[in-house]
Amino acid sequence: MSKVKRILIANRGEIAIRIAKAANELGHDSIGFWTDNEPKAYHLEFCKEWVHLSGNNISETFLNIDKIVSLALENKVDAIHPGYGFLAENSEFVRKVEKEGMIFIGPNAEAIDLMGDKAKSKKIARDAGVPTVPGSDGVVDTLEEARKVTKEMGYPVLLKAVAGGGGKGMRVCLDEKELEKNFEAVQREGASSFGNPDLLIEKYILDPRHIEVQILADKNKIYHVYERECSIQRRHQKIVEESPSPFIGDDQKLRESICKTAIDLAQAVNYDSAGTVEFIMDGDKSFYFLEMNTRIQVEHPITEEVTGVDLLVNMIKSAFGEALDITSQDQITQKGHSIECRICAEDPITMLPAPGVINGFSYQLNQGVRFDHCIYPGVEITPDFDPMIGKLITFGLNRDVAIRKMIEALKHLKLIGLKSNVELQKVIVSEKSFKEGKYSTKYIEMIKPQEDLKEKSFNDKDFLEIIMSELVSKVVR
Ligand code: ADP
Ligand code: ADP
Ligand code: MG
Repeated sequence: MSKVKRILIANRGEIAIRIAKAANELGHDSIGFWTDNEPKAYHLEFCKEWVHLSGNNISETFLNIDKIVSLALENKVDAIHPGYGFLAENSEFVRKVEKEGMIFIGPNAEAIDLMGDKAKSKKIARDAGVPTVPGSDGVVDTLEEARKVTKEMGYPVLLKAVAGGGGKGMRVCLDEKELEKNFEAVQREGASSFGNPDLLIEKYILDPRHIEVQILADKNKIYHVYERECSIQRRHQKIVEESPSPFIGDDQKLRESICKTAIDLAQAVNYDSAGTVEFIMDGDKSFYFLEMNTRIQVEHPITEEVTGVDLLVNMIKSAFGEALDITSQDQITQKGHSIECRICAEDPITMLPAPGVINGFSYQLNQGVRFDHCIYPGVEITPDFDPMIGKLITFGLNRDVAIRKMIEALKHLKLIGLKSNVELQKVIVSEKSFKEGKYSTKYIEMIKPQEDLKEKSFNDKDFLEIIMSELVSKVVR
């Protein structure tokens, strides 16, 4: 076994727990941050040591590069895992960590730079022979230029901030009027949210599927760990993901082709960690590169379930230059089916964040169910962070079984004290077109699952009382 390393987790929530579990499994020491706002964060229970990250907001804490690097040095840390969000795709952070002689558990800084900008990454993709969404040739600086580009392309188009992420900094324009209205707005959004006003224009593909390929690489070799379908989205943000993709189905040629294309792109930037190449797939099965996320992704567990590859463990091994658990592409195969529902503190009707306090909760881990979460009684979901509080993941022999298990798991998941999308997720995965695997990114717009909940919502009070009494009786017992 390799030397015990001290791994600092520069994140919070469910992903901090996932990283701590992987570090512990490898025999390393996991070090977690506690903050003034979250002194009892659940991830600390999984960490061997706790370090105080002082400050009142995320710029003073999880986004503060200098503070994190100096705390790492003070605590004689060997390596830092950034999780997702925060500093995960910040090459300045990577360079500072490395300059101080520590290891960044993620890809090299150059790969992050090249893939972090949607205009740059599209150019690299084109040069590597990877098909990209038809659109502007790089950044579009003026409205005049935008008019010209869209005239050639035809509406609808999508304006995209080159540095955007998490579904933000993106606006659809159906005609020239909307283009005029949205052009500067997207530039402003890019500047304020991502520190970069640059935008590009893409043809807005109607009714597409979002299909992405998991990459896992060490310093010598790049593997793909097959695909995930993440077409069920609201506000261009995923809420349900599954693997294998029902749209690709048993078309093995298409599956091989998209996975090989993802490897080609990863190779073009000397990728050397876990990462994801995202594509959009048209009804005729042609696919186009969207972006590459140079980090571990929220939905990584479904890939772990169907392939048996522990992505977090292997990401850590790769960073330390150790042999991965796999030695050849042939060893990685898909077996069975896995689905993930993101559990978010949000209003199930408007699907907007609804912060609050979780006073009580219960869930049941039947066979084939995994719940990656960060909930403890009294936890406050604040507007400071993403409202995702957990991920319910099921695995079944086949897709029908995975859906059946998901419906049952959702029935048993009770969150008391705040609004959540648990009931909404139940409707989403019970709908006929979901069960048939026939859906696109327009699913929520078309099915309107929230309509089913409107009638139910006035019963919320009774519902809460029933669960409360159930919980109290559990505690008493
Ligand atoms: P995934 O593809 O992993 O599902 P998401 O787009 O849902 O990724 O983002 C995962 C997390 O990272 C969310 O908390 C999101 O808000 C955050 N995030 C993603 N991209 C960015 C970015 N460019 N800047 C800041 N936060 C981001
Ligand atoms: P982010 O960095 O916010 O994740 P992406 O470029 O990955 O941005 O796009 C997020 C989502 O927006 C996609 O999953 C897809 O549903 C939608 N989308 C992006 N580009 C297009 C496009 N050209 N046409 C149609 N939908 C798109
Ligand atoms: Mg994306």
